[in-house]
Amino acid sequence: MKKIGIMGGTFDPIHYGHLVAAEMARGEFKLSKVLFIPTGTPPHKNRRDISAGEVRFEMVKRAIQDNPAFDISALEIEREGPSYTVETLRVLRRTWPEDELYFITGSDALLEIFSWREAEEIFKLIQFIGAARPGFDASDFFLKVQQEHPETQGKIHYLEVPALAISSTDIRARVRRGEPIRYLLPEPVRLYLEELGLYVE
Ligand code: ATP
Ligand code: MG
Repeated sequence: MKKIGIMGGTFDPIHYGHLVAAEMARGEFKLSKVLFIPTGTPPHKNRRDISAGEVRFEMVKRAIQDNPAFDISALEIEREGPSYTVETLRVLRRTWPEDELYFITGSDALLEIFSWREAEEIFKLIQFIGAARPGFDASDFFLKVQQEHPETQGKIHYLEVPALAISSTDIRARVRRGEPIRYLLPEPVRLYLEELGLYVE
């Protein structure tokens, strides 16, 4: 039985926050690999100008190329219409019926899960690894979540990730203001987004 990590996100652009969380989860939970799945039309985002799926896919591809344990899936960006996590998880379950699947998310996204379609069903398909910065009061948070949502009992794991204030929103804002973004994300991704002139306005 293998353990497989799933890292879903808009990745507009992918940055070191995502990559460090995925790598720490891999080490801590002995995952045989982490599969990055860029979202199609994200139902929870209301930014109107999300970069094209192919562009976000290409950025992820360039970001993970040097890590043999990281892989990418076009499952969601190839799907028509909005992607619901539960549908993706059903496909992954069919692909790996015997293995343990772990969905890696930031702690901000963990709170959103309960607004997702078929949240209860999701906990039957996959466990969660919630990445938070050191100092985040996880015990209170998890206690509250498990009291309010008993179906999550034992299915949410906490992962401490070294302080990373990096976010895609901040990177896009920096590009717009003409500020540096180097060292916030892998160099091949930075060069690619500059070449395309992404986020300039
Ligand atoms: P945006 O600012 O556009 O929302 P983002 O930086 O939050 O982008 P997403 O693509 O929305 O990136 O996030 C994908 C996943 O990665 C989510 O589960 C999110 O919580 C997590 N994540 C994002 N930034 C970090 C970070 N710095 N450290 C750990 N996890 C992160
Ligand atoms: Mg986000």
